[in-house]
Amino acid sequence: MPSLKQCNLFINGREEKPSSENYFIRENPATEKDFAQIAESNKKDVDRAVSAAKISFGAWSKVPATERAKMLLKIADVLAKNQKQLALLNTLETGKPIRESSLVEIGGSIRTLEYYSGMHTQLNGETIPINENQMSMTIKEPVGVVAQIIPWNFPLLLAFWKIAPAIVAGCTIVLKPAELTSCTIYEIAKLCSKAGLPDGVLNIVPGKGEVAGQALVEHPDVDKVAFTGSTSVGKHVMKTASDSVKRVTLELGGKAPCIIFDDADLENAVEACLRGGFFNQGENCTAVTKLMLHKKIYKKFLDLYIKRVKKIKIGDPTKQDTEMGAVISKEHYENVLNYIAKGKSEGAKIATGGSRSRKFKKGYYINPTVLENVDPNATVACEEIFGPVVAVIPFSTEEQAVEIANNTEYGLAGGVWTQDINRALRVAKSIKAGYLWVNTYGGIVPQTPYGGFKQSGIGKELGKEGIENYLETKCINIYTGGSMPRWYKG
Ligand code: NAP
Ligand code: MG
Repeated sequence: MPSLKQCNLFINGREEKPSSENYFIRENPATEKDFAQIAESNKKDVDRAVSAAKISFGAWSKVPATERAKMLLKIADVLAKNQKQLALLNTLETGKPIRESSLVEIGGSIRTLEYYSGMHTQLNGETIPINENQMSMTIKEPVGVVAQIIPWNFPLLLAFWKIAPAIVAGCTIVLKPAELTSCTIYEIAKLCSKAGLPDGVLNIVPGKGEVAGQALVEHPDVDKVAFTGSTSVGKHVMKTASDSVKRVTLELGGKAPCIIFDDADLENAVEACLRGGFFNQGENCTAVTKLMLHKKIYKKFLDLYIKRVKKIKIGDPTKQDTEMGAVISKEHYENVLNYIAKGKSEGAKIATGGSRSRKFKKGYYINPTVLENVDPNATVACEEIFGPVVAVIPFSTEEQAVEIANNTEYGLAGGVWTQDINRALRVAKSIKAGYLWVNTYGGIVPQTPYGGFKQSGIGKELGKEGIENYLETKCINIYTGGSMPRWYKG
């Protein structure tokens, strides 16, 4: 048997074994072959990592922001120089097409690092004139040691949405990757250290959420938790963090509607909704999973759409021309197939897909699936599936479309397609979600603030707002007058 890749802890600039000496095996989801051994960090390991981050915070927070910004550019350079092998490793652990690993995970991480390197010019407070004897000023200070907890669907991109602003703000980090996808970020941490990132600024503790993640959120020396993952775990993280009133930001699940009116440019809409639904095997929190079609264009759109869905090239994710790979794990594969069965039992018709891909004996491949005529209250129209499954829902009026779009506890993203600018804005404003697209869909760029309404989360990542999560505002009041006015007369 070929030797397995070993993923250890990375603490204070050094690779370390887990104190328990326990490892678990991660398989490649596209081949079902064992691929890596992942260290199981426990509370003791988390204590060591937090202590390293706490010690390094003293020096790192005092490094001029211009120097911290240069470090982000160095990391971007490291990613670019190692793009090929990092993309391959990311594909082996996620099952996603190499094209997406390279252009989205690594490319998007580089763009995020470059954007936040420019943010060192924005770490300013204000001066606030109060009266002729008093001046107040605010200064921005890094929040301290931050815990960053990452899901498996974009293990690099979502890590860098957190790492980049934290580093330029002067924070130090303990990051817990998802247990299914710990290898690439661990390799990156080692490369960053070689490129000059000071010891203790970025520490990695792979392991189980309930053990390593839990210990991190409970740790009294952690000042802030930045979590991306499911709504159920996010609620638990928020409760746990409340014990020591840690700062918390949550990026949680979604159930994005995409509303196509009868005057939409159908060809563009088909193109964008294909990517919106099936990019990253649909394992995407902003995936178009409620595709809402006006009755007048329902059939025409669907014919065009399904023709294209059937042509999506599913296969070996390490090949450059593969367009859709395997889903992340056996357990998730079964969940997605169960959702498809549930959709069928609740009356939806399978327009295409609906089963595993028979082209492969091994690997968690699910054919891109479109469920037609879905009832807006059906399970597949309300719950997050997080796989290559799009539920198509017809509608007749704008009011009805908005009502169906908002018929969910989530509020992450959505799309509107129409040539009528008034209607586009009216509907975009009526959808209770944090990130909307008009006449396009998908692609979250570092310049824009991204985050959910309702149970999709709290706080924003990216954009100018994204850095505020890593800063505290301190107000300093200065008396500039002569003798102090007397309050007590005696
Ligand atoms: P998850 O099960 O909630 O896990 C997310 C992370 O939390 C993992 O690292 C997990 O560790 C860890 N965790 C589990 N229990 C924990 C605990 N008690 N304390 C601290 N950490 C704990 O989510 P997932 O299955 O990895 O990812 C899919 C979900 O993420 C979907 O719901 C999706 O919508 C959401 N998501 C949201 C966004 C967004 O930006 N809004 C982006 C991507 C994904 P383990 O890996 O060991 O379980
Ligand atoms: Mg989990």
